[in-house]
Amino acid sequence: MRSYDAIIAGGGLIGSAVALELARNDLRVALFDSQDPGQEASWASAGILSPAPENPGMISLVPIGKASLAIYPQYNALIEELSGIATGYRARGTVEALFSRHAREELNTIVALHRGLGLKAEALSAKEAREMEPALTEELEAAVLRSDEASVDNRLLAKAQLEAARRSGVEINARSTVESIWCEGTRCSGAKVRGEKITAKFTIVAAGSFSSRIVGAEEYAPVVPAKGQMVSLRCDAAKIDRVLWSERIYIVPRNDGRILCGATVEHVGFDKTVTASGIHSNLDGAIELAPMLAQARVEETWAGLRPDTPDHLPIIGETDIEGLLIATGHFRSGVLLTPITAKLIGEFVTGKTWSVDCAKFNPMRFRAARESARVSGATR
Ligand SMILES: Cc1cc2nc3c(=O)[nH]c(=O)nc-3n(C[C@H](O)[C@H](O)[C@H](O)COP(=O)(O)OP(=O)(O)OC[C@H]3O[C@@H](n4cnc5c(N)ncnc54)[C@H](O)[C@@H]3O)c2cc1C
Repeated sequence: MRSYDAIIAGGGLIGSAVALELARNDLRVALFDSQDPGQEASWASAGILSPAPENPGMISLVPIGKASLAIYPQYNALIEELSGIATGYRARGTVEALFSRHAREELNTIVALHRGLGLKAEALSAKEAREMEPALTEELEAAVLRSDEASVDNRLLAKAQLEAARRSGVEINARSTVESIWCEGTRCSGAKVRGEKITAKFTIVAAGSFSSRIVGAEEYAPVVPAKGQMVSLRCDAAKIDRVLWSERIYIVPRNDGRILCGATVEHVGFDKTVTASGIHSNLDGAIELAPMLAQARVEETWAGLRPDTPDHLPIIGETDIEGLLIATGHFRSGVLLTPITAKLIGEFVTGKTWSVDCAKFNPMRFRAARESARVSGATR
């Protein structure tokens, strides 16, 4: 029987980062992916590294997002060094454009909100914003500069992390679906992979949107897919340096000259069809924000599945089954949260103190919620 210190189900950004972290802690690690690793959400993403909350529900993600952004430069340098692959990391910041007639009042509220959360934010007039980013529309009323935000080419990062993990001793098994976890009493003894029982002291579920399909992990990882459609453009006339945001769209420049525009958020199951309305909505939003993109050449369109959870927060940590850990459900922030998730899982496995409080991301929270719903249902 094959036996390891740790096995990981899923080889996206999260699974491969965890695998690398554990191998660097001297564990014997094997990673299993149902296809070639790194081809799902981690491939489809836009790679924006922004801890700024998009809505009030996301405020509880800010501390962990800030912690991850803070370690990104060193983390990225390590990945590039171990793998020999450049990841396209760009620490250039974000400009968020405001269009409404009340933009000036909105601006003060947004800047105050960001600063209250410990995030760097600066108010810009429309003129200042257009001087920084000349591709921005003249219709803009004001803008916010978040100068410490960054982006990374997630496809290159996924490739680099897998190579770094392989070079650090991780055994990578492609086309090897983890069917179920395998328990003896209250202990997880490993997992079943294509009918083979594989033993491990630690089993980590990091299968993104597919995590709830692994028998035995469903109640800890009730993840559902949230489809996102993206478009990649080329436009020599448009010089875009920073990530650009509006209420409708984001535009992400890559080092190789591509300009990514995204993304829709659709709860339509595991369907990854690229639709006319999805692409129309992306292009319409992008051209509104940077009108010269109307001249751009469409280079690629695609869709991917974000791992979403009932409260839209990630699931990171231990379960009540000894040896079973979960690292999934990162929804719209998985690229940002990759380094800190790997660090936290490393801390759980080695028994060190958590570097960030992750009680809110506890895998047991869904079961507790279900049980309390069951009890209140019984007493009604
Ligand atoms: C369009 C789009 C835009 C996004 N933009 C951003 C962004 O700008 N910034 C950001 O931070 N995040 C963004 N995200 C979110 C981010 O991409 C995800 O949160 C992150 O990639 C999740 O990584 P993962 O490793 O958990 O999942 P995945 O990358 O989906 O990897 C899961 C892996 O598990 C494998 N697998 C599935 N089932 C099994 C099984 N049973 N056994 C073994 N392996 C299995 C799959 O083959 C896959 O390789 C975006 C996502 C999308 C789709």
